[in-house]
Amino acid sequence: MKINIIGAGISGLTAGIYLQRSGFDTEIFEKHSIPGGLCTSWKKGEYIFDSCAHWILGSDKGSSFYKIWNELLDMENIEFYNHDIRVEVGVKDNINKYGSKIFKLYTNLTRLEKYMIDLAPEDTRAIRQFIKPMRIMQKFDLPPIMDDIRFFPSVLRGIKMMRYLEFVYWFMKLKNKTNYTYAKRFKNAFLRESFELLYDGDEVNMMVLTLPLSVFDKKSAGYPIGGSMAYAKKIEETYTAAGGNVHYNTPVKKILTEDGVATGLLVRNQVTHLSDITVSAADWNFTVFNALDGQFVNKEMMDLRNLKLNEVFFSVMQFSFGIDKDLSEYPHFFRFPLDNELVSPDGTVYNRFEIHIYNYDPTVAPKGKTSVTVSFYTKKADFWIDIRKNNRPGYRAAKDELTQQIIGILDQKLGGIKDLIEEIDVATPATFLRYTNNWKGSTQGWLNGKNILEKSPVGFHLPGLKNFYYSSHWNQPGGGLPIAIKTGRDVAKEICKAHKVKFLSV
Ligand SMILES: Cc1cc2nc3c(=O)[nH]c(=O)nc-3n(C[C@H](O)[C@H](O)[C@H](O)COP(=O)(O)OP(=O)(O)OC[C@H]3O[C@@H](n4cnc5c(N)ncnc54)[C@H](O)[C@@H]3O)c2cc1C
Repeated sequence: MKINIIGAGISGLTAGIYLQRSGFDTEIFEKHSIPGGLCTSWKKGEYIFDSCAHWILGSDKGSSFYKIWNELLDMENIEFYNHDIRVEVGVKDNINKYGSKIFKLYTNLTRLEKYMIDLAPEDTRAIRQFIKPMRIMQKFDLPPIMDDIRFFPSVLRGIKMMRYLEFVYWFMKLKNKTNYTYAKRFKNAFLRESFELLYDGDEVNMMVLTLPLSVFDKKSAGYPIGGSMAYAKKIEETYTAAGGNVHYNTPVKKILTEDGVATGLLVRNQVTHLSDITVSAADWNFTVFNALDGQFVNKEMMDLRNLKLNEVFFSVMQFSFGIDKDLSEYPHFFRFPLDNELVSPDGTVYNRFEIHIYNYDPTVAPKGKTSVTVSFYTKKADFWIDIRKNNRPGYRAAKDELTQQIIGILDQKLGGIKDLIEEIDVATPATFLRYTNNWKGSTQGWLNGKNILEKSPVGFHLPGLKNFYYSSHWNQPGGGLPIAIKTGRDVAKEICKAHKVKFLSV
């Protein structure tokens, strides 16, 4: 049975691997010349710049996600780097008892708790209450919870969730709290300000802070040495070794249908590829409204498209620099308040500046040199997409203007590196759109709202369309690599079930 898959991102490759193993004949059609989609890094001169795998959920042997990853690539052969400190946050108005303006978000919960209590003994109770839910979350494995949310109707889901009573109890306690509201629990002014500054501007739901911290502590969210592209390529190798075939530089224009049945793909140069089943692992908006011309939608999907149900996850402006200097004495990731606000050409005002120094991965720069990235999230992706399309010189000028300001700040922070910059690369939302087709340059699909355990509005099927499946990070608000592999695997399972074929995971 022939299956066409759109997209060699992580979700498309994952679906392809399981379907090949289970005996289907699959082909992947990818618009780019390389695999990985958003899970990517690129080489410029002697440097590699990365934009994805800061943390890969499931990098420890104990978790269910590890087992899934291990079906996709040989995890024993990947060296994961686990940071001791997630981020160092510079505060503006307060100093701690040691005269420092820096708060360290340790990844080890025992150490974090001790550090915070040392800084603010008067807040011991509030600090213990902050740490406690993370210890409880650690006991639960996310994939089974995700299955129960996705596959059970609401009443049954309620009953199923009883198994996770302890998790749900703490989830309910935290679900309406943000780092801003939580900060108010602390009497200590330094701690309060540090908490407010934990993210680069917006208030974030406490689950967004506590869930990752609970896995960092278990060393279950490491960075793969070699970076995102090397990681994605290993998954692509598994797919081709299983007999799959990727057509690169082959953008899909349309999904062909006949009487409500998906029959194949129309790709560039008006070439058609017929199949029994079609899987789209490409952008949701493109799939539904471009490739299928909006023929298979319901009200919920129109509401999604009109942004009435969910917000699209922020896009990012990523400035990457190859610097001829050893920056190993600097923290790998730090954020500090700016003396003067930075106004982006898209109108976003930034008061904080975030530097990511890849001094822990020897493969991304020659010895004695360092790859550095500065990222700003933006909700104004359309500005960058429109200006690139309609005014290319204006686009370049807007990028250059911001780049020069950033170099000035980096120069101060990293001790005079201005003349040591050997490579510069700037990626805007237009870049992410151009290379991966993600709607509005989204980096993780839909933004997760307050209730991150809510059932996703984007399912594996489209109303009225047979022999078609959809799988990608757009399937679950919050997105990310774990969602991409989980949905790719689940879609393959569903196809096996529908066609009474045994699902073979290895
Ligand atoms: C800056 C940044 C940092 C991130 N950090 C992390 C992190 O630390 N941890 C984490 O888990 N996740 C992270 N993510 C998110 C993660 O990269 C994505 O959620 C994940 O890679 C999405 O995979 P996907 O396969 O669902 O979609 P995509 O990666 O978007 O793959 C879709 C594929 O389809 C192809 N395609 C689209 N349209 C067509 C077409 N018409 N024809 C043919 N092919 C097409 C695209 O080219 C692409 O290859 C980050 C993302 C970014 C951008």
